[in-house]
Amino acid sequence: MGIVRRDGKWRLDKREAGVYEVTFENQPELKIVTSDYSPRGFMDERTDFSIEVREVDSFSEAEALFEEVAKGSSSRIGGHSLPIGANESETFDGSGEDYSLSDLPPVGALLFGTLVGGILINSSGLAVQSMSFLIGVAFFILPLAVLAFTYREYASNGPKAAITYLFTVEESNKDNSRSEDETPDRTPPAPQALKNELYFERAERKCEWCNESIDSHETHHIRPRSEGGPNEPNNLIILCPNCHDKADRGMISRSKLKRVVSMNSKQ
Ligand SMILES: [Zn+2]
Repeated sequence: MGIVRRDGKWRLDKREAGVYEVTFENQPELKIVTSDYSPRGFMDERTDFSIEVREVDSFSEAEALFEEVAKGSSSRIGGHSLPIGANESETFDGSGEDYSLSDLPPVGALLFGTLVGGILINSSGLAVQSMSFLIGVAFFILPLAVLAFTYREYASNGPKAAITYLFTVEESNKDNSRSEDETPDRTPPAPQALKNELYFERAERKCEWCNESIDSHETHHIRPRSEGGPNEPNNLIILCPNCHDKADRGMISRSKLKRVVSMNSKQ
């Protein structure tokens, strides 16, 4: 066996039938295994974890890959990284990886707090006055807070939102600014003159939903003001307090309210 190709300081060495090694300044960089290779005994070159292994079909493909590697990088790339494509070297050099606790999604904080708290409390031998017991208990505050927030999310927005919350890395203030961008500005209350006009003329002093005569009227936004629902006659409906309550709780669908409004508008 021996050197089959060379390119500058790059070498392509044949190790055994179907097994080639790419070296740079005699340092192994890549192992290439062709279809000529058949493993002997327990050792399988294709599962060599000490080096990057690439499988190709033929020796000519191994040569082509060697060319690619040698041409792709004029200088040695640090460590045992894959020397293909010099641009990728930054990804492999290990710098720039700076993890901190704030990068953890809530589920990570939950596990971290439980783990560290558990270890500390366990190591204290459950001696309540000991320092490690107290610090351990303090660590449990983190997962408890996560659970509380998850439950709040679940209660108000359902299981999907709770899961999203648990697995999303986001500072809460970032989250707020984003949701503000998504939801339109809240509409100001409807002008009294418009409400009166709808009450006296379109609703004829009745609840537009149950037709009960009403002395005092309440105006309901079919598309809520919080969603940017406009102060326009087709988005406003005059309701009695009872029906208003139902509409606010979503017991009367928006489409039904819309239909009533458009019917009353035509009269
Ligand atoms: Zn009513």
